[in-house]
Amino acid sequence: MISGPSGVGKGTIRNALLPRVDNLQVSISATTRKPRSNEVNAREYFFVSEDEFRELIAEDKLIEWACVYSNLYGTPRDFVMKSLEKGLDVLLEIDIQGAMQVKEKMPEGVFIFIAPPSIDELIERLCNRGQDSQESIEARFAASQKEMSYMKEYDYVVVNDNLADAVKKTESIIIAERCKIN
Ligand code: ADP
Ligand code: 5GP
Repeated sequence: MISGPSGVGKGTIRNALLPRVDNLQVSISATTRKPRSNEVNAREYFFVSEDEFRELIAEDKLIEWACVYSNLYGTPRDFVMKSLEKGLDVLLEIDIQGAMQVKEKMPEGVFIFIAPPSIDELIERLCNRGQDSQESIEARFAASQKEMSYMKEYDYVVVNDNLADAVKKTESIIIAERCKIN
């Protein structure tokens, strides 16, 4: 599982990992956030209404869920469990609140925190992505300090300074974890 402040590069690292690591399945979350211009339903997210999301919660169809920057996000249970049963590793890219819920339920998971090289660089990436409103960027940045304080709850930290290095480190963590005896 990878988490970290918004704009740190989690999605970029995840996309770069996929062609490099075999037997890795990305989990597609459900969200009430509106799609960005480059996003497609059932590819980046399952975009749902708040009523539909509440129904998923009521039917216990989410492993975890959280309200993040004013929208609801959650991990569909069936898909993750079926992928694990097939022997695949499932990559969750979720926020800290969700990660802490998964840690409770699945402590055997591997928890990787992606950190920015600096706060200035984080702001720059959030702004450069050019996909969120000013209000949303401010909310994401405001949350980042508290999010950083959760780093100690994770198994690994990867600083996303140079992208290629960060991808290599994350790939190495996955490979090392697969070689672990206990
Ligand atoms: P997140 O998924 O954590 O919110 P993104 O993957 O969308 O973040 O990345 C935010 C922005 O930062 C994007 O424009 C992305 O291209 C850029 N980015 C990601 N990693 C790096 C890096 N190592 N150096 C510079 N820019 C980066
Ligand atoms: P974004 O709106 O930038 O796609 O994502 C905002 C935040 O929501 C990010 O921190 C991302 O990791 C998190 N997120 C995405 N999917 C989920 C999910 O299923 N559960 C939780 N708890 N957070 C998620």
